[in-house]
Amino acid sequence: MKALALFSGGLDSLLAIKLIQETGVEVEAVYFLQPFLPPDREKKVIAHLQDLIAQLNVKLHIVRLGDDYLRMLENPAHGYGKAFNPCLDCHIFFLRKAGALMKEIGASFLVTGEVVGQRPKSQYRGAFPIIDDESGLAGLIVRPLSAGLLPPTIPEEKGWISLAHCPSIQGRQRKTQLALAQKYNLRYETPAGGCQLTNVEYGKKVRDLLKADGALTIDSLRLLSIGRHFRISPDYKGIIGRNHQENRELYRYFYQHRWEPNLYLLKGCGAPGPLALGIGRPSTEAQRNLAHLTAHYGDHPKLVNVTVKILAAGPDHHRTNLSVFNDPALISIEQFRIT
Ligand code: SF4
Repeated sequence: MKALALFSGGLDSLLAIKLIQETGVEVEAVYFLQPFLPPDREKKVIAHLQDLIAQLNVKLHIVRLGDDYLRMLENPAHGYGKAFNPCLDCHIFFLRKAGALMKEIGASFLVTGEVVGQRPKSQYRGAFPIIDDESGLAGLIVRPLSAGLLPPTIPEEKGWISLAHCPSIQGRQRKTQLALAQKYNLRYETPAGGCQLTNVEYGKKVRDLLKADGALTIDSLRLLSIGRHFRISPDYKGIIGRNHQENRELYRYFYQHRWEPNLYLLKGCGAPGPLALGIGRPSTEAQRNLAHLTAHYGDHPKLVNVTVKILAAGPDHHRTNLSVFNDPALISIEQFRIT
């Protein structure tokens, strides 16, 4: 018999796998990779997950999420948490995907590291029936960490597994999990940073994007991890690099999309300074405001004119120069700053 575990990279899902392995069932695991992580972070996350799961000798499936995940993020039926995290819908989405993979690999049930009462929205006891019903997997989701507190699942009722050895963890305290980690000698560092959608600052940028564009794309979400973000006008957004690495990434993005319209690259001349990426349809005033911000964040002397070079992408790509007077009093940064 085989089970498929949802692996989050955290201690709870490691323990859940271990507890099910102890029932004699073979376990494979799946990790759902959000498609908008910066590539270097994505590599680190995958390496870290593989390192952790290797302790349990479990096959790990990494599933990269796609556009259907973005559609769910745009309009979650159960709403968002404190930031842009639709945890309940996200969880149901993961379980549906896991249910399909479960059938594909010939597994008989799913395993999660959920704990009753641990998370405000998706892990209180009342949420589990909603999750089970909406995922279409009622009775097939085993939660070994809180097994004693939950009604028996199909695998228990049919005698496929016994969870008598499992704890009845409830709430946010971690004492039992830490004791179990010690008992099983498990390393359990969580991947750096956690889910970006739970970050309030990142969430503000996603909301701005959704309001302005009406839809999310993987490319536009990836850009949210780079630079300072400014909403210059309803139709125009600017991203200004904060360091050499970010400037390179903004340049790379511009170069990769150089045949697409509504994309601009700005750079102040005559002194070291950042690159700025302009996205959208700028009025003359909006372009001037982004040029002014670009000069402001450079090493240009104040109270002098700075020439800002502007490359326009698209089939008729062209270069223009705009002269702006570099006076901080003339521009209200807070008016435009998204985060
Ligand atoms: S923390 Fe992030 S990945 Fe996890 S359920 Fe919430 S939104 Fe989804």
